[in-house]
Parts: sequence; structure tokens; C-alpha cells
Amino acid sequence: MAVIENSKVAIVGAGSVGTAIAYACLIRRSARTIALYDVNKPKVEAEVLDLQHGALYTGSSQVIGGADPAVVEGAHLVVITAGAKQDPGQTRIDLAGTNVGILEKLLPVLMAHAPNAVYMLVTNPCDVLTVAAQQITGLPEERVMASGTVLDTSRLRQLLAVRAGVAPHSVHADIVGEHGDTEFALWSQARIGPVPILDWQPSATSGDQRPFTHAELDQITDAVRNAAYRVIEGKGATNYAIGVSATRIIEAVLTDENAVLPVSIVHRGHHGIDGVALSLPSIVNANGVGRVLGVRMSAQEERHLYDSAEALRKVQQDLGI
Ligand code: NAD
Repeated sequence: MAVIENSKVAIVGAGSVGTAIAYACLIRRSARTIALYDVNKPKVEAEVLDLQHGALYTGSSQVIGGADPAVVEGAHLVVITAGAKQDPGQTRIDLAGTNVGILEKLLPVLMAHAPNAVYMLVTNPCDVLTVAAQQITGLPEERVMASGTVLDTSRLRQLLAVRAGVAPHSVHADIVGEHGDTEFALWSQARIGPVPILDWQPSATSGDQRPFTHAELDQITDAVRNAAYRVIEGKGATNYAIGVSATRIIEAVLTDENAVLPVSIVHRGHHGIDGVALSLPSIVNANGVGRVLGVRMSAQEERHLYDSAEALRKVQQDLGI
């Protein structure tokens, strides 16, 4: 799978999310070396052993790790999952102060070991943390991204796929904006195969015979927006879907794929946004984000994007970043 020779991904934080990403990378053979780093020594050592013990059945990826940050040495991509997570009822934004504080100490150490890496934030609120990380590291904007709405987009396509009776890969629709409460679907561009979503004609054999309506699309957006709250209420964390979503981005970087994915970077002028990170469909390759696509939006979608950026800017101002 990997195109970068002897590719190495470092995953920082060996909790529910970090280990789900490591496991997905292992079984998909996404990198030659998968390094896990966490301050919790017994936990990270146990996770590394558990992952290593499946070697017979997982291909040739090497899993290393521990509580010494030197394990990230030479990584092509550093994925950050370390930090506080949402308790039931908490928003992602509630975590901002704590997790910016963690990044201020963590990033200089990681940069000393992996100065040439692309950095990807998964820890929440991932958009705000991307701005903080870019400022702390001084790296070019394109080398510091967040997984953003790649996960939310998967949730959206899965719901639409079930409703329309097609494979998720045949649904073309994106969630953009904040990875959080102000995110929204780009319905003006949404298609099933080549068919605009509101023109979709259910077949006589599909289970659901109704065409999509604006009201139903609004309900689907709400379901996506609230999906994490539902999962956290039931099991205390979300991990499997972010595991494969982050791995999708990891593969785009390590294979220099130029894949279009809705990742988040600090914007300098796209849709009039400056100094705020949020997700827009972007080309992802070995350099990080190669280009943010100029996507046409309806007037209402432009307003939603502006509102999302302003909500994030307010959080940044409160944090002094
Ligand atoms: P967790 O509590 O299970 O794991 C966090 C890990 O970070 C712990 O093992 C802890 O020891 C480690 N850690 C803390 N400070 C550290 C430091 N300075 N250096 C190294 N390791 C450190 O939490 P989780 O469920 O894995 O969630 C992690 C983060 O991912 C949370 O902020 C959560 O909100 C976020 N998340 C993001 C998405 C997304 O789509 N962006 C999805 C799910 C979860």
C-alpha cells in the first residue's frame, strides 16, 4: 500500500482513538512502521504488545512504541490523538483549553524528533487545535491538518447509502465547516452516482419509495451532527469510525495519492476565511494539503460556512490564539 519507501506513521495517544487508528493501519497495511507514543507507559506498552501479537495475520507492518517520544523519530506523518475527550453531554469545544495546553508542551518535543513530518490533529476540537498547532510549530499551513469532517462525511454517505439502496462509494456528498456543532452538508453538490440528490428516483425494487425532500435532508444533517453524542452516550467514546477515517487520510499522505478529502487546515482567503481552520474538500498528498478546491456553494451554504468560521474564531479569541 505505502508508496513512501519504509513509510512511518507515528500515533500520539494510545487511548480508544489512537489504538483504533493503529489497528486500522495494521490490518490495512497502511505503513511500514506504526509507532505509538503515550505518557501512560504501562498502557502504551500493553497496546503495542497486543498489536504485535497479531503479526502472523496482519502483513509486514512493524509496530513499535512506548512512553519515550523518541519513538516518533523520522515519522513521515504524526497523528495526534492525545488529550481530553468528551464526557457524555460535553461539546468538543469544552475541551479546547485543556487540549491547547497539552499541545503547547507536546508539539515542541514531537518537532524535535520529526521535524519534516506532516502533522494531523484528531484530538478535539480538532479545527481549533489545528490553528494552535500551526502557530506553535510555525510549519506551513499545508503541513498541519485535522481529520476534520472526513468522519462526518462517512457518516453522511452511510445514511444516504442506506436510504437510497446504493453503496456508500456511490454517494458523492460532503460535510464541511467545523468538525462540530456548526458543520453542514453541501447539499447543492450532493449526488448519487451522477444524479443530483433531489432528482433521485427510487427504484420499484428499493425498500424506500420516496424521493428526498429538503426536510429529510435537514434531518439527515442533524443526525450526522449528533452522531458522536449518541455513540458517546452509549459507549463513552467514538473510536472505530474515526480509526478508519484517519487511516484513509494516512494512506492519502503515505501514498502521495492526491485524494480529495474534506480535511481541515488554516485558511488564508478561501471563501473569505482567514486565520481559521475548518474543512473544505482538499487534495491530500505527501506534502499534506496540496490544494483546497474552489467549490461552488449556494448563498445559504456560504452563510453557513461564514457562521461556522465565526463560531470557531470566537473560540480562538477566547483562548487567545
Ligand atoms: P482517551 O482518553 O482514550 O485517550 C487519550 C490518550 O492521550 C490517553 O491514553 C492519555 O494517556 C494520552 N495523553 C494525554 N496527554 C498526553 C501527552 N501529553 N502525550 C502523550 N499522550 C498523552 O481518549 P480518546 O477516546 O482516544 O480520544 C482522544 C481524542 O480524540 C479526544 O480529544 C476526542 O474528543 C478525539 N476524537 C476526535 C475525533 C475526530 O473526528 N476528530 C473522533 C473521536 C475522538
